[in-house]
Amino acid sequence: MPLPHRHLTSLLLRRDGNSFLFDCGEGTQVSLRRLNLKWKGIHAIFISHTHADHITGLPGILMLSSQVERTEPLYLIGPPRLKEYVEASRKTLEMHINYPVIVQEIEDPSRVQVVFEGEGYRVRSFPLVHTRVCVGYTFEEIPRPGLFYPELAEEAQVPRGPLWGLLQKGESVQLSDGRVVQPSQVMGEPRKGRKVSYVTDTLPLEYISTEVANSDYLFCEGMFDDTQEQTAKEKRHMTARQAGILARKAGGVKNLGLFHYSPRYTDRELLVLQEEAQQEFPQAFLTKDRFSCPIPYEE
Ligand SMILES: [Zn+2]
Ligand SMILES: [Zn+2]
Repeated sequence: MPLPHRHLTSLLLRRDGNSFLFDCGEGTQVSLRRLNLKWKGIHAIFISHTHADHITGLPGILMLSSQVERTEPLYLIGPPRLKEYVEASRKTLEMHINYPVIVQEIEDPSRVQVVFEGEGYRVRSFPLVHTRVCVGYTFEEIPRPGLFYPELAEEAQVPRGPLWGLLQKGESVQLSDGRVVQPSQVMGEPRKGRKVSYVTDTLPLEYISTEVANSDYLFCEGMFDDTQEQTAKEKRHMTARQAGILARKAGGVKNLGLFHYSPRYTDRELLVLQEEAQQEFPQAFLTKDRFSCPIPYEE
């Protein structure tokens, strides 16, 4: 439930002028406004499951639309029943949305699959185990071309100009003397893209580690402390320690941001959750409302 200084779950990812939202709990539009982020930039919204604490912010976000101009479609992606929820809200609240809203329900949420892709990235969903059909997501950039070495291009006698551009794009070029130069002759190895994973409302399952491996940031629920492990299990949730174990076992995870805390904890008490997660994975930290961070490329 929302607390005076703690709204419900939502994660916003910004990349190249597009924004992507993961879940849309109550109060999400308040945070967008406080951060001066334009909802108009939101390209797609990914929903983990249709529990109220993850979707009650959606109608408000959709209603913002009647205030501004927008022509690009908004994609809503999530498990079955998302469409029903969106359509019922639109109808009952008589929303006048003047741009396309495209709801894509994940047909078989028990399968790992690509649910969305755009230029240079793809989003995959994978099944979680909760009291309702629930999925996690990874947002992953496809590898970028390796670094271009001008000295190697000169050595291969490729004239400076458009041919350099083609090589940088990964295309081979033919020179006037008939020789063909491959990009690999003038460029380094492809570089890893960035990866962000979003996991909430689930039992701690071994295979989640495989999905979230090599994430620059793994955002994971850390709902309870150690003493509540049984409660977590019964309610199909995770403790902060279990989130830490998952991050450690995954391998290659750089940071673990905890969220989705039980309202039973005060801000001070949350430090216990952080400590328990850090015992398993030292780069674990507590996120809080409007926490933000840059995600740099790996060089
Ligand atoms: Zn839930
Ligand atoms: Zn929840």
